[in-house]
Amino acid sequence: MPWDERYAFRDCPWCGLTNTRLETIAIDQQVVDKWGKIRSWATLGCPACGNAVLVRHGAQDSDDSKAYEVVPTSSHAKTVINHLPEDVARYYNDALLVLRVGVPDAAAVQLRRTLEAAAAHYDIREKVLMKSIERLIDDGHVTRSFGPLLHHIRSIGNVGAHASDERVDQETAGRALRFTTQLLRNLFEVPGELKELTEGGATVRSK
Ligand SMILES: [Zn+2]
Repeated sequence: MPWDERYAFRDCPWCGLTNTRLETIAIDQQVVDKWGKIRSWATLGCPACGNAVLVRHGAQDSDDSKAYEVVPTSSHAKTVINHLPEDVARYYNDALLVLRVGVPDAAAVQLRRTLEAAAAHYDIREKVLMKSIERLIDDGHVTRSFGPLLHHIRSIGNVGAHASDERVDQETAGRALRFTTQLLRNLFEVPGELKELTEGGATVRSK
């Protein structure tokens, strides 16, 4: 039997619930393509957020024992950044992890460290996080369009430094994460990809 209940052990791509088994709502739902070939899909449900996930699986009468497409794809894909230096990636991944399990204060601390480590790669080490990011913009390492959005990271600037600090809620930490993701793409992914293009034999015109 090609549908295997093991396929239901997966993280919820909607709400990020991890280490869980999604509920199997239906299996072997058949969709016929234009060549008459049947594709089988299972519908899974998340017990936390109530959203549905589709998994394509092998036909019942075949010995095809694989799970194929999962729709939607995991929210992890949205946060994957290429060419991220290892030290920055470590803090960033920690931030993702604690935000997923619902500890926004801890996520804020890890995001602050992520941004500090990122700025340090450009030899910027201001005492105040906002100043470091402003310098990244002033020095032209990131586009000016980040400027008006800096308030999204104001809340994480000194969180965790004192017990009396203002707490950060999930939504605020979520926005700080989105800002951080885009900033890291601009700082590391774009230059990294362009460098690969150059090394890949593209014509480089000198001034
Ligand atoms: Zn969910």
